[in-house]
Amino acid sequence: KKIVIAIDGHSSCGKSTLAKSLARELGYTYIDSGAMYRAVTLFALRNGLIKNSKVDEEELIARMKDIRITFEWDTDTEKNTTFLNGENIENEIRQLEVSNNVSPVSTIAGVRSELVIQQRENGKNKGIVMDGRDIGTVVFPDAELKIFMTASPEIRAQRRYLELKEKGAEVDFDKILQNVEQRDTIDSGREVSPLKKADDAIVLDNSHLTREEQLQWALEMAKE
Ligand code: C5P
Repeated sequence: KKIVIAIDGHSSCGKSTLAKSLARELGYTYIDSGAMYRAVTLFALRNGLIKNSKVDEEELIARMKDIRITFEWDTDTEKNTTFLNGENIENEIRQLEVSNNVSPVSTIAGVRSELVIQQRENGKNKGIVMDGRDIGTVVFPDAELKIFMTASPEIRAQRRYLELKEKGAEVDFDKILQNVEQRDTIDSGREVSPLKKADDAIVLDNSHLTREEQLQWALEMAKE
């Protein structure tokens, strides 16, 4: 049976890791909704629609029709590649410039509504695992399985720390922790924040779980 699995949660709590391995195990398609917001942000940056972190909202909404986002998902290697109008942008959308500008872009209602339409199209008639912030609440309110992931700020900061260090960056753990806590405060206080737990979502606190334990737990949930 093909079902829709929605995985929502804060950044750096392991959503994409779990989503990808779940998709591999089930032979489903994986869709990274965050990559779509990042792709729109890259498009806006390239076209001069963001200046000093201010987005030209009207123009960006008007240009949404020129943006086509597609994915290539390889189940065996768990490799996901994002394309913007046919161009491979997977690496570029992970750069700091995009990360720093994606928040204001993702608060624009006209951007969200357009991407939600595209996300729903991706889920038609096939098994999919999609991760993001509003998948269980807005994109697929009827998803058969909804997982809401959390981890303690310390653990998330530690994961980010290791990730950055692996890339060879100079990092200060305390600063990262501060940033994680700050973003949590902003996210939970902001009315426009897309991140909400669906009433019927199951909470997975993975602070003290290995990747394999999380996968086995999720596979059990997907069976029911
Ligand atoms: O998941 P990731 O960190 O790549 O997402 C990048 C950004 O896109 C998030 O910080 C958030 O602002 C936005 N986003 C969103 N709704 C989603 C997925 C991502 O607003 N469903």
